[in-house]
Amino acid sequence: MAIAIRKSDDIRLSLESIISELSFIPGKRVFIKPNLCGRAPIKPGENTSIAVLDALIDILVRMDCQVTIGHGALLGSEEQKTTFCETLEQSGFVKYMGSKHVTIINIDELERDEVILDGLAFHLPMSYFANHVDTYINLAKLKTHMETQVSLSLKNQMGLPIPDDRVNMHKYGLNKYIALLGSVIKPDFNIIEGFPAMENNGPHHGTPRDTQLIAGSNDMVELDSFICRLIGLDPTKVEHIKLANEASVGKFSDQSVTRQFRELVIPDFKLASREYRYGRMMRAYPGYSCSMCISAVNNAGKEFKKHPIKYWRVLIKSIISKHPINIIFGSPDGSIFEKGRNICIGSCAKELAEAKQSVFLDGCPPKQSDVIEFIMKNI
Ligand code: SF4
Repeated sequence: MAIAIRKSDDIRLSLESIISELSFIPGKRVFIKPNLCGRAPIKPGENTSIAVLDALIDILVRMDCQVTIGHGALLGSEEQKTTFCETLEQSGFVKYMGSKHVTIINIDELERDEVILDGLAFHLPMSYFANHVDTYINLAKLKTHMETQVSLSLKNQMGLPIPDDRVNMHKYGLNKYIALLGSVIKPDFNIIEGFPAMENNGPHHGTPRDTQLIAGSNDMVELDSFICRLIGLDPTKVEHIKLANEASVGKFSDQSVTRQFRELVIPDFKLASREYRYGRMMRAYPGYSCSMCISAVNNAGKEFKKHPIKYWRVLIKSIISKHPINIIFGSPDGSIFEKGRNICIGSCAKELAEAKQSVFLDGCPPKQSDVIEFIMKNI
């Protein structure tokens, strides 16, 4: 196991030298899983950098590889689903359609095999990997994440199970299942790129930060823990990385590696908070929500801002209110909202709503229009 890292604006050179240092020799058929999580309008730092992917494809083609890029549709509220084709169009990845060097596939359409992980059924493209892929490259982004603290190589694999499995991961133990996923599908090579990275409240509400960093390793735990240390986060306190280490998916990087690269440490990298503020008094807590509830609540927030006259009461309350107003969704940890008025949304928050005797809107996912009406009524 080893890590290689480069900081340079020459992406191609960085990748070539990482590949050479780690003696990585890909097989003929290479499958790349990028990270596309942004919905229009997409912020820089939400998605895999096209410049990095272009450089990687170019290197692989020159090594005589056949390159396949795989991604699926994005989860969303009933009103805002992002299909595979829309994901490609919005991200700019549509340019790879029809390329003579690259095939792009919708992984939601691949044949699936059932795999049980700690009592939960997953539907994974195991036969596809076994029969059609010689080398699997996990191309992840350097990003913070409001639910899992970071989204790096382990988290990037969440795009492999079918959408229903992904929803179940959020419902029944996001960190545990991210870790266990790494025990059944192990990439041959992992790359994390920060062209740009995303700090603050990633993966959607963060701020792009151009780090010019690219790192590679064959071990997801080692690579993710190393990157955590570079951005000032103790990886032993990042639940999914800690669990992956315990499940022997890989091994924490040695602290001495970080010392070796101390000039690359970003001490002021802003980490994610567990809350998103609307005004002075209103906060949204995504807990371990999947993107369906996130879209419904986000889009409700956008509607409030877009129509200030119609929703004047919500806007006034978000600034002037006797108590904080907490919008809670997605299996939250109850201990963080001791004060204020709790408005619980979506079936994952039902237990907490009952325990705290809070108002509750059922649904999985709840409709965006119902979320708007519910917040208006209960604020
Ligand atoms: S209730 Fe919301 S967060 Fe929970 S699984 Fe359903 S849509 Fe996702």
